Amino acid sequence: MEHTFSYWERTAFIDDADVIIIGSGIVGLSAALNLKRQQPGLKVTVLERGFLPSGASTKNAGFACFGSLSEQLSFLKRSSEEEVLRLVDYKWRGLQRLRENLGDAHIDFHQYGGYELFMDGEQVLAEESLDHLAYFNKLLAQVIGGADIYSVADSKIAEFGLTGVSRMIFNPHEGQIHTGKMMRTLLNKVYEQDILVLNWCSVSKIENEYRHFHLTTSHGNFRAKKVILATNAFAAQLYPDLDVIPGRGQVLVTKPVPGLKIKGTFHFNEGYYYFRNIDDRVLFGGGRNIDYKQEETWDFGHTDSVKNSLVHYLNEMILPGRDYEIDYWWSGIMGFGEDISPIIKEVQPNIYCAVRCNGMGVAMGSLVGEEVAELALT
Ligand SMILES: Cc1cc2nc3c(=O)[nH]c(=O)nc-3n(C[C@H](O)[C@H](O)[C@H](O)COP(=O)(O)OP(=O)(O)OC[C@H]3O[C@@H](n4cnc5c(N)ncnc54)[C@H](O)[C@@H]3O)c2cc1C
Repeated sequence: MEHTFSYWERTAFIDDADVIIIGSGIVGLSAALNLKRQQPGLKVTVLERGFLPSGASTKNAGFACFGSLSEQLSFLKRSSEEEVLRLVDYKWRGLQRLRENLGDAHIDFHQYGGYELFMDGEQVLAEESLDHLAYFNKLLAQVIGGADIYSVADSKIAEFGLTGVSRMIFNPHEGQIHTGKMMRTLLNKVYEQDILVLNWCSVSKIENEYRHFHLTTSHGNFRAKKVILATNAFAAQLYPDLDVIPGRGQVLVTKPVPGLKIKGTFHFNEGYYYFRNIDDRVLFGGGRNIDYKQEETWDFGHTDSVKNSLVHYLNEMILPGRDYEIDYWWSGIMGFGEDISPIIKEVQPNIYCAVRCNGMGVAMGSLVGEEVAELALT
C-alpha cells in the first residue's frame, strides 16, 4: 500500500503530523480543535476507521442531561457526595462548552426539560428517590444553581398520554440536541482549522521509532510526533490494559405520530431506557440491562430480546392504543468501566488517551477532548 502514495500525497497528507488523533467522535474532534486553538501552527491529522464516525457520537439519543434523580442516588450509594457533585459539575460544564463551541441553533438545542418515570411496580425505588429529592436539590444547586432542579410532576403523566407510570419527576435543566447536526458542525469547525480528517482508515499498530511514532493503518503507514487515542469503546483493541468495556445501545425512531403528546427527554429504569420527541416522532432506546453480557460487544446490530422489550414499552406505555410504525433501527457502542470517570492520561511517553465517557459523552465529550489536548501540549 505504502508505495502507491505519490510524493505529493506523502508530503501533503501522510507524513510528519505533529499529532495524530485516532477516532473522529466528539472527543477526537474536540481534542483536534483544542490543539489548534492553543497552537495554530500544529499539523493535526485525525484517522477514522468508519465512513462516518462509527462508535457512539453519531448514534446516540441526543440527551443534553446530567443525570436523573434515581441515577444520582444510585451513584451516591457507590461513591461519595463530593464525587456525585464533581461529576454533575463536569457534565454541566461540558454541556455549556458544547453549546458555546457550536451554537444552539447549529445543534438544534431545545431545553424542553427532562422527566424521570417510575412504573407502577417501582414504588420502592420511587419513594426512595423522592425521599432524597430535597437533599439532591440542595447539593446540586451548588453547581447548577436555582432551587427546584428536581420536582414532582405526577400531574403531567396523563397529559403526555403515558400509561403504567405512577410517579414522575421533572428537571427543567435538561435539553435535547440533533446529534447528527452536532457532529456535522464539529467537523465543519475542524475543517476550518485545516485539520485533516481521513476516513476508512483503521489503525492497527502504533510503534515507537526514533523521534516519532509509526502507525500501521488500512491505508498504509503514517508518522507522527504524538498520538491521541480517542477510540472510546474500542480502546482495548489497541491498548488491552485500558479498562474500557464496550456496551451496545439499541435505538429506534418511529415514523411521525400525528398529535404526539410527549415533549422533552424521558428516562426510566434508572436510566437504562430513554425516549424523546424528534420531529413529531419518538426516539426510544435502551434495554442493555436485559442481558449485560450479550450487549458487551464491539459489534453493531440488534437482538430480539432488546427489540421486543423496546416495542413492548412503546405499545404499553409510551404510545398506548396508538397506531405507529417504526422507521429506523440502529445501534451504537459506548465505553464503560468500573470507575464512572473518563480515562484521560498518558499511556506511554507522547501517547495519550481520552476514552470511556460511560454513556455520557454528549455531556462530557467537549471537556474530555479539551483536557487531553492540554495534556498532550504540556
Ligand atoms: C445508543 C446511545 C445513546 C446515547 N445517548 C447519549 C445521550 O443521550 N447523552 C449523552 O451524553 N451521551 C449519550 N451516549 C454516549 C455518547 O454518544 C458517547 O459517550 C460519546 O459519543 C463518546 O464519544 P467518543 O468520541 O469518545 O467515542 P466515539 O464516538 O465512539 O468515537 C470513537 C471513534 O473511534 C473510531 N475508531 C475506533 N477504533 C479505531 C481504529 N483502530 N482506527 C481508527 N478509528 C477508530 C470509531 O470508528 C469511532 O468513530 C449514547 C451512546 C449510545 C451508543
